[in-house]
Amino acid sequence: MINGKRIAAVVLAAGNGRRMQSSIKKQYMMIRNKPVIYYSLKTFEDSFADEIILVVSKGEIPYCRDEIVKRYDLDRVTRIVEGGKERYHSVYQGIRACSPCDYVYIHDGARPMLTGEMLNRLQTAVETYGACVAGMPSKDTVKIADENGMVQLTPDRNLVWTVQTPQVFSYSVIKEAYERLMEEEQRLLAEKIAITDDAMVVETLLRKKIRLVEGDYRNIKITTPEDLKIAEEFLKDFNR
Ligand code: C5P
Repeated sequence: MINGKRIAAVVLAAGNGRRMQSSIKKQYMMIRNKPVIYYSLKTFEDSFADEIILVVSKGEIPYCRDEIVKRYDLDRVTRIVEGGKERYHSVYQGIRACSPCDYVYIHDGARPMLTGEMLNRLQTAVETYGACVAGMPSKDTVKIADENGMVQLTPDRNLVWTVQTPQVFSYSVIKEAYERLMEEEQRLLAEKIAITDDAMVVETLLRKKIRLVEGDYRNIKITTPEDLKIAEEFLKDFNR
């Protein structure tokens, strides 16, 4: 609870992580003696979030309940639900599992470097704008390519951000956007529109403006093997 508002967090861990090329899924790999997924769950556990919904793959619910939630006393994890084929299917399952709340934080469990400071910044923004995402101004120049790998466009770097999670919304906004997405999924697939984050669902289906909020350059998504080394180094500064 914060400012009289009820807060839910949906933490996603139902991906396959193929780019990690490992038999153990990235969200369950150990860094500094704890599984990757533990770190962001712990940040939410110690925050103003009232409940945490953990979304995992079919068959992993007992493991997560016993080896993660019970083992590390993550009392605010109220439900562990099964995700779906694409990330957006998993998000939808998570949103549907929330108890009545005012705001929902959607977070990739593969981003362990989540901090309470980021949550505070996002909360201030979402109370004003109703929809916001963590991100950072791009350090690199970005090029938009055409299908042949030729540069088509160079956007003004001052306006380019790379987007992270959490992505935070009024519950009514995100619920409506995802319900529409499910209704219009076939059309979007036919138009080859790939849904890669939650803000995009809200932008595309509700035409609502999204506020960018400063995240943290350390808040990387663990994707490929070298990311584990980087995370190990960053997590030395986290006292958990
Ligand atoms: O695949 P990617 O790295 O973009 O996944 C981002 C997050 O979404 C990860 O935490 C992953 O576990 C989660 N995910 C999910 N369900 C899927 C695909 C990804 O919960 N079907």
